[in-house]
Amino acid sequence: MSSSAQTTIVRGRFLDIQSLVQQAQQIPEQVRYLEDGVLISENGKIKWFGTWQDAQPHLPENIEIQHYPEQLIVPGFIDTHIHYPQTEMVGAYGEQLLSWLNTYTFPTELQFKDPAYAQNIAQFFVQELLKNGTTTALVFCTVHPESVDALFEAAERIQMRLIAGKVLMDRHAPDGLCDTPQSAYDESKNLIEKWHAKGRALYAITPRFAPTSTPEQLEKAGQLKQEYPDVYVHTHLSENKDEIAWVKSLYPEQKSYLDVYHHYGLTGQRSVFAHCVHLEQEEWQCMHQTDSAIAFCPTSNLFLGSGLFPLKKTWEQGVKVGLGTDIGAGTSFSLLQTVNEAYKVQQLQGDKLSAYEALYHATIGGAKALDLQDQLGNFNVGKEADFVVLNLKATALQSLRQSRVKSIDDALFALFTMGDDRNIEATYIYGQCAYQKTE
Ligand SMILES: [Zn+2]
Repeated sequence: MSSSAQTTIVRGRFLDIQSLVQQAQQIPEQVRYLEDGVLISENGKIKWFGTWQDAQPHLPENIEIQHYPEQLIVPGFIDTHIHYPQTEMVGAYGEQLLSWLNTYTFPTELQFKDPAYAQNIAQFFVQELLKNGTTTALVFCTVHPESVDALFEAAERIQMRLIAGKVLMDRHAPDGLCDTPQSAYDESKNLIEKWHAKGRALYAITPRFAPTSTPEQLEKAGQLKQEYPDVYVHTHLSENKDEIAWVKSLYPEQKSYLDVYHHYGLTGQRSVFAHCVHLEQEEWQCMHQTDSAIAFCPTSNLFLGSGLFPLKKTWEQGVKVGLGTDIGAGTSFSLLQTVNEAYKVQQLQGDKLSAYEALYHATIGGAKALDLQDQLGNFNVGKEADFVVLNLKATALQSLRQSRVKSIDDALFALFTMGDDRNIEATYIYGQCAYQKTE
């Protein structure tokens, strides 16, 4: 081991899902639980992972071991859809999607033209992710390139893997939030050149949604995707029934809402569509055939009264899915709280969401949705060392409940149901402790 290598050793109870699966029923076979485990990371990557006993010959000398005997260590949570400029408007009262955008969102986003304003909120946002155990997110910025710089700069300081992009929007929004097909193209191209694959940053071409882009702008977006095939596409799809009707009136030529994006070359392995609550059968098929992914955002779907997402269908149709908080229509930064609501959304449809399946979606499944399954999502050697140390007994009620658990999945399910940022003891990014809870 070279003297310049940055090595971290963490000992404790580890839980992860070892590999990707095709069906929810296969997940329990892939659960890996080490009662007394060790993770050694070097220069941000996992170098060794296994039991304390087996670790002995691998432990470098003179390096302090971080020991978490009581806690549970899981891979960092992955948020596949969130808006950082909406951090300050969580819990805005009384509207559904389209009027919520006009009443609350657009006035808030206008402020991000000011770089100092954007930097301030970006810094707060990144801290809030860490505080909630989220180590990677796919993030909407605003139409202003300054908002993108501010976010990537904040993430870069702690070497956090974030995917983000400038919003493309050239109609049905206030003047100060509109670009043009050409300026959207030029500004996005500059940002891709500046940020994509720089350190751990990745870029996403980010049309807000079909109603706020002209056909000319979506064409430009498709052109960019062709020029930079390994950047992401991130947008909204089929969230609300009025929205779907609006898209049909604006794009009468296309067969469906998703067909609008597909027509402009915006579907594919690195395309993530938030919501997808009301997809038609042919849209499910298109999602599968193009290997596009869904971000399921239960707290948002409930808050805006958008509808109940059929999670079971993603398995049946072979469509990738991750969890999204969708702050600020979503109501919590916590993926634990997001799972809590995801479970209830399935209950209302007569389905279940097990603790292990929830962990899968929050970690390795989310990584797959972002096409980062080779880098993130579990403790396999060679992956990036992003993980969370969880305190299962953060409150008196949680302590009582956890003292009665019968198994690790029972403990995990109770954590998902009752947990939030109070349960996050520490968050490690790229092998370094980036957040430590203080009492
Ligand atoms: Zn959203």
